[in-house]
Amino acid sequence: MPDDADITQARTEAEAELFRRRKREPGLLPICVCYYCGSPINSGVLFCDVYCRDDYEREQRLLAFRGRR
Ligand SMILES: [Zn+2]
Repeated sequence: MPDDADITQARTEAEAELFRRRKREPGLLPICVCYYCGSPINSGVLFCDVYCRDDYEREQRLLAFRGRR
């Protein structure tokens, strides 16, 4: 008979890991300053707010577009 507690535990850990991965921006490490405007921010986040993140992503897309030519 399988141990229900173990299965629940494993599922919870998998979900937590998924959540952690989804939260992280791919390829960027938190450096305690906003990647867009350079303001000091909490460690663990990449931008001060969603506006900085959006502007940064827009800029990255523009740069990638220009780089491709
Ligand atoms: Zn910012």
